[in-house]
Amino acid sequence: MKKYGITFCKVASITALACTLLQSCSRDTGPPSTEAARDDGRKIVDLIVEGDHVVSMDSNRSSYEYGAVAVDEGIIIAMGDRDEILAQYRSDQILDGKNRVVMPGLVNGHSHAAMTLLRGVADDLALMDWLNNYIFPAEVQFVDAEFVRIGTQLACWEMIRGGTTTFVDMYYFPDIIAEVVEACGMRALISATVIDQRSPDAENAQDSISKGNAYINRWQGKNSRITPIFGPHANYTLNADQLRATRDAANDAGVAISIHMSESPFELQYSKSTFGMTSIEFFESIGFLDGPTIAAHVVWPTKAEIPILASRKIGVIHNPSSNMKIASGISPVTEMLQAGVLMGLGTDGAASNNDLDMWEEMRLAAFLQKVERMNPEVLPADTVLYMATNGGAQAIGLGSSIGSLEVGKQADIIQVSLDDVHFIPTFDVVSHLVYVADEQDVSTTIVDGKILMLDGEILTLEIASVRTEATALAAKIESALAERNSAGRLPATVDE
Ligand SMILES: [Zn+2]
Repeated sequence: MKKYGITFCKVASITALACTLLQSCSRDTGPPSTEAARDDGRKIVDLIVEGDHVVSMDSNRSSYEYGAVAVDEGIIIAMGDRDEILAQYRSDQILDGKNRVVMPGLVNGHSHAAMTLLRGVADDLALMDWLNNYIFPAEVQFVDAEFVRIGTQLACWEMIRGGTTTFVDMYYFPDIIAEVVEACGMRALISATVIDQRSPDAENAQDSISKGNAYINRWQGKNSRITPIFGPHANYTLNADQLRATRDAANDAGVAISIHMSESPFELQYSKSTFGMTSIEFFESIGFLDGPTIAAHVVWPTKAEIPILASRKIGVIHNPSSNMKIASGISPVTEMLQAGVLMGLGTDGAASNNDLDMWEEMRLAAFLQKVERMNPEVLPADTVLYMATNGGAQAIGLGSSIGSLEVGKQADIIQVSLDDVHFIPTFDVVSHLVYVADEQDVSTTIVDGKILMLDGEILTLEIASVRTEATALAAKIESALAERNSAGRLPATVDE
């Protein structure tokens, strides 16, 4: 743990927290702090989060003006009108809600977190060119445990900054990813990547499955915020036997699978010529869908395949930025939602996005469907916000514990500041969250009732050292790429 663990900024964090809490507690509406008030009959809770607007994203879309959420032992125990909550509960931690929206944390359903360190290393390329000629070779050369530790810390910093509280990751050295997530306080499903080629942490498919099994044994049941899963890469990097073997290993361990599925025209053609059928039909034909599955992208499902996704309860993760940047295509999100497919949103890795801003994914998801269907009524703001929260939680199998603000759920909560000029005026809060907000507007990020960011300050990562280490590693990558480029083996950029 110590070998890769994050150094907490304990002193700075506690000082910042104490200062803010003192300010909050000194507000008129805060709980009385005198000894006489200590026995006023109100239940003491760990945390109360206030907001001028509380957007629950529950199935009834309950919302409150001047509301509050009471949290104890990591669980939401009450929510509603602020004055009513404060009449029943008191806490030493009350987060002021003036000009703040309180809502569930965002769920990033598909990422390759450590690829933050390859942000911008190769742009403006098609998927297979990008993967085979740039990303896979760069990963073999540069990715090791240290790369994954620093890259994942960088990603967690960005995601906490932007109000993402849960992510589904697929990358190498999953133990290191889990250690970073454990230390920084986020929630994640972390895949052991299975791929049939030499990768940074395995020799081939069989090796990655056995190493994945060992990783899952180490992390299953260890930390309630961390869910180890398998991540077979795709049906063009694994054959049918290897895909089946991964599903068997996942089912034996009782864990889910995350996979790229029906992402590009290349995959569609490869699947037809190799297996004689389209991707999702192929996965169904080999029994691969017989277990919990999170399918990233799903840009090219046929009309016959969409009902398979619905009936198999596949969680489909839409990644509009990546699909647009690599020109993979436009996913039929509207049709899949109409068919009852569980749908969430994701950023994909920072090398194909190039950031981890879920607010941007929301906006692009809506805009892309509207222009593709030439109908501005499709994928309205509320539906997109649902995909980024409750819908995404259901798609990744955590719908009963996170994704909405509801009594009994885990306290994964964010506050969004409405202070910036782009929120003036605010007629419709949900519209603004989807069509205006960005990651810089998030002021507070809370997971399991623990504050990870307060008033924009990250409390659970030593960001100065993450910045220093990431910058130093990026400089090494840049000079190695320049050397390769001059040798004509791995061009870092494309001029034409
Ligand atoms: Zn991906």
